[in-house]
Amino acid sequence: MINPKTLHPATLAAQALGATDASTGAVVLPIHTATTFLRDPDNQYRRGRGYGRADNPSYDQPQALLTALEGGAATLLFSSGMAAAAAVFQSLPRDSHVVAPQVMYWGLRSWLKNFAEAWGIAVDFVDATSLDALRRVVRPDRTRLIWIETPANPLWSVTDIAGSAEIAHSAGALLAVDSTAATPVLTRPLALEADLVMHSATKYLNGHSDVIAGTLTTAREDAFWARLRTARSSGGAILGSFEAYLLLRGMRTLFPRVERACRSAQQIAEALSQNPRVLDVLYPGLPRHPGHAVAARQMTGGFGGMLSMRVRGGAEAAIAAAARVEIWKRATSLGGVESLIEHRASVEGADSPAPPDLLRLSVGIEDPGDLIADLESALGG
Ligand code: PLP
Repeated sequence: MINPKTLHPATLAAQALGATDASTGAVVLPIHTATTFLRDPDNQYRRGRGYGRADNPSYDQPQALLTALEGGAATLLFSSGMAAAAAVFQSLPRDSHVVAPQVMYWGLRSWLKNFAEAWGIAVDFVDATSLDALRRVVRPDRTRLIWIETPANPLWSVTDIAGSAEIAHSAGALLAVDSTAATPVLTRPLALEADLVMHSATKYLNGHSDVIAGTLTTAREDAFWARLRTARSSGGAILGSFEAYLLLRGMRTLFPRVERACRSAQQIAEALSQNPRVLDVLYPGLPRHPGHAVAARQMTGGFGGMLSMRVRGGAEAAIAAAARVEIWKRATSLGGVESLIEHRASVEGADSPAPPDLLRLSVGIEDPGDLIADLESALGG
C-alpha cells in the first residue's frame, strides 16, 4: 500500500491506493462474490466477516480510496445515491427538523416531500445561496441536519460550505453535503467542516454510465455513523460486488476525467455566452454567475463539468435544439465520459426551479471543439 498522507490524491486514485492482491500479485483486486463466510471452530468470526449484507471485501478498496480522497474517517457504499441520502434522513431521531435547499437534485426533493414527513421529519426548503436565509430557518432546539448540494442541480447554485457548517454546528446540527457535481477532485467538504459527504457515485466517481451507486463519507466514526452503518446492513441497501469493482475501476481515472470535463465546460460556457440564440448560461466558472466568488474559494482546479443554458424562444425552442444535436446524447444523468443534454423542466415537474427554456449539459471527455460545434449547429437550427 502507498502512503496516502504523502502523495497527491491523483496518485492515490490512479493506483487505487496501490492495492495489489497478496496471494497472486495481481495488480487488479479480485471480485469477491461470497455471500457468507466461515466461522472459526470455536464459533467466532475472527476474520471480521460474517454475511454479505453486513460487509463485503469488494467494498474495502473503493471505500478506503474515497475516504482518502475526501480526507474523512470512513466511507460506506450504498446501492444508489438516493439510498445513501435516504439513510441519512432515516437515521435521524423522530421529530427532527431538517433544512434543505430549494435548488437541489429533484429526486431527493421529491422524496423529502413525499416520505420524510411520514417519518416524522419536518423539512424547510430555503435559498441555500444565502447564509442569512439558512440562519433564519435553523431552530436551535430542533434542527438536526442541514443538507446542501453545491454546485446544485440544475441552476448550478453555489452554497458556502464553511459558512453553512458554522450555522449547523452553532445550532447543534450536522452539515451534510451532496458533492456529486463537485467531486473530491474539486471540493473537499470535510476540510471545510462538513460532517458528512454524499455522492451519487453513479456520476463522476464511476464515470461510465454503467453503475448505479451511492456513498457517504464521515468526518468522524461517531454514534451517528454507527447508526448509518446499521441502516445499510439492516436496511439492506447494499451494492453488488461487480458494481463495487466497476466503481473502483472508474475511480482510478477520476482525476483526468474531471479535469478535462472542467476545462471543456469552461470553454463551452464561454462559447455559448457569445451565442445570440442563448439567453443565459449558468456555470459557476463564469465571473457573472452569482456563486462565482464562493465557488472560486471552495473549489480548486475548476468549476465542474455541469452547466445549463437558457435558449431564446422558450421550452419549444430548447426542446427543438436538443432534438438537433448529433454528438451530445439526449439522456438524463451526468458525470459520464459521454456528453449529455436534457430539458430539465420536463423531468422535474411543477416545483422545479428550472425555467422552461433550460437545457442541462453534462460535459464528457470528447474533444471540446466537436462539442461546441455540435451545440452551435443545433442552436442555429
Ligand atoms: N444527487 C445528485 C446531485 C444527483 O444528480 C443524483 C442523481 O441524478 C442523485 C443525488 C441520486 O443518485 P442516484 O441516481 O445514484 O440514486
